[in-house]
Amino acid sequence: MAEKTRVSRRELIRTAAVTGAAAAAGYSPAQAQTGQPGWDREADVVVIGSGACGMPAAIRARELGSSVIVVEAEADIGGHAICSGANIPLGGGTSFQKRAGIEDSPDLVFRDLTDWSLTEPNGYADYRFNDREIMRAFADNCAQTFEFLVDHGVKFVNEKPDGRAGSAHGNSVPRQMHVWAGDWPQVQTGRPTPMEVRAQTSNGNGLMRPLESAARKAGVEFLLEHRMTTIHRTAPNGGRVLGVAVTNRGRNLSIRARKAVVVATGGSSGNVNFRRMFDPRLTEEYCGLAGMPWSNQDASGELAGLAIGASLWGAANQTLEIGDNITKPGKIGCQYGYVNLTWMPGSRVFDKARASGLRVGNWQDVILVNMLGKRFYDETGGGYPGNRYNTVSPYFPHSYRNARNVKFNPPDWIPAAMGGIGDGHNGGGAIWAIFDADAGAREKWNPVAPNVDYDAGFFFSANSISDLAKKIRMDHQRVPMAADDLEDTVSRYNSFVDSGVDQDFAKPKPLYKIAKAPFYAAWAAPVVHDTRAGLRINGKSQVLDMKGEVIASLYSGGESAGGFSMHGLARCLCQGFVAGKNAHDERVEI
Ligand SMILES: Cc1cc2nc3c(=O)[nH]c(=O)nc-3n(C[C@H](O)[C@H](O)[C@H](O)COP(=O)(O)OP(=O)(O)OC[C@H]3O[C@@H](n4cnc5c(N)ncnc54)[C@H](O)[C@@H]3O)c2cc1C
Repeated sequence: MAEKTRVSRRELIRTAAVTGAAAAAGYSPAQAQTGQPGWDREADVVVIGSGACGMPAAIRARELGSSVIVVEAEADIGGHAICSGANIPLGGGTSFQKRAGIEDSPDLVFRDLTDWSLTEPNGYADYRFNDREIMRAFADNCAQTFEFLVDHGVKFVNEKPDGRAGSAHGNSVPRQMHVWAGDWPQVQTGRPTPMEVRAQTSNGNGLMRPLESAARKAGVEFLLEHRMTTIHRTAPNGGRVLGVAVTNRGRNLSIRARKAVVVATGGSSGNVNFRRMFDPRLTEEYCGLAGMPWSNQDASGELAGLAIGASLWGAANQTLEIGDNITKPGKIGCQYGYVNLTWMPGSRVFDKARASGLRVGNWQDVILVNMLGKRFYDETGGGYPGNRYNTVSPYFPHSYRNARNVKFNPPDWIPAAMGGIGDGHNGGGAIWAIFDADAGAREKWNPVAPNVDYDAGFFFSANSISDLAKKIRMDHQRVPMAADDLEDTVSRYNSFVDSGVDQDFAKPKPLYKIAKAPFYAAWAAPVVHDTRAGLRINGKSQVLDMKGEVIASLYSGGESAGGFSMHGLARCLCQGFVAGKNAHDERVEI
């Protein structure tokens, strides 16, 4: 362990004067009494989290000349970013856009992502709540962030930006790039992407491994399995940020940041109490967070920020049912059923994921029932799409005339699944896919471990529908499922197959009866994905307090920061890029 270092005389005096406050800010009683916080390690800039925001922040600060420590809670780098599909909408006039003859500019990015007149098919306006200062910073740094990726070894599958596979990335020109997966072992499988699809496959391993190499080459120090618990500030509601407390395998350490701390912890979607402040429906049964169990979005950055006076921002964005905040599972019978992420036995986190799940090819093969054993919606329904390139046509920038061109949909699958069941709770409870042996054969499912998760209560089978209902344990149910109710539901559905008409939910021509034993119940609850609300930042990625004033030496970005409703990587990478520069520019405290 490095020798403990001392802080400046001015800081010591100030700290001694606020002994009680300092204790609240995270110092031990002995440290608070002497006013001499002991530091186990120190660097100019301390970055918390090694994902999409933390990695560029660390590289940039280091390359500009600051010493940098990254503390990462998990055993490996990358966060949700390394699990991602790495479809990145960074435009504003990139070299790839220019080569493809696409005219784009920071002003156009700003115009697109602040277009209050554009609504989703459910009527919500994706961009209405985007903080204009934060958006301006994104627009102005968008193209530079893209070139930063290229300069640090990130390669792309496509030569020409397009509008595929992303959401909420503006509407007027193509900006989406797809990162080449490369030949790194994939965190999902433990193996490189198969040769036959490697040339076309985009994913986050190809984004984060080159950035990790660049960071290590530049001299960024990574402290893995170091979880930040507290941000030290001179006083809980005053002065500058001094460093962080971390835990590492039961040890407590303090790491001093001579210049600044960057909170890049990835958001709050995995913390039930925290996420329910924004959306009361997000109760504990929604335990299938996309990106878990590689890393969790446990709100630790937001909580540590709030404890030293930081403000939150853009809370409405979390609840608007836009884009990917909450999604329909693509796989059933496992806890982590996010459509674009399959954990395989070779993955180093497979012991935590426990099962890969059964990928649903055709939602005609199952019915979906709630905790009571009752259907609630057309199983073939999906979620609302995010804004996509040219979905509103004709499109009039910033004009009420767009209203007449939006195609409004009826309520979708997600709010139906998350509706209450009248038991006094906000959440919709467990959702089960019920199917029979014939459906399993049609889908070519093999319903055994590790494809499905019997042990943790995410999959059950029985030789009759009645026994199936009785077998569903109470691990994830708030009330037992009545056998009669499930039997009634299945026989009613089978009658719809006979008549060809779903009289309850208008599923387009129900095709298959549920009739041949064995019968199965597979976990199919909605998956929580993005965090779109978090710490309040300004255009420099500085964290602001409840009065709107800057908390000196504290930065944030990515899913831990609020005020910017946009799915995914682009905002996270860009805000990290901005935070790294400004953290480096902070005055050194000696
Ligand atoms: C399966 C999947 C597919 C996706 N596909 C796309 C896509 O194609 N395009 C797109 O734009 N977006 C995509 N996304 C979203 C994108 O990956 C995230 O929005 C982005 O990674 C968030 O970046 P971040 O830096 O905020 O958090 P993360 O990338 O999650 O990084 C946060 C890091 O902080 C660490 N951490 C958390 N708390 C602490 C603590 N207390 N102390 C120390 N470390 C801590 C975490 O372990 C993690 O490593 C996808 C996400 C998933 C899960």
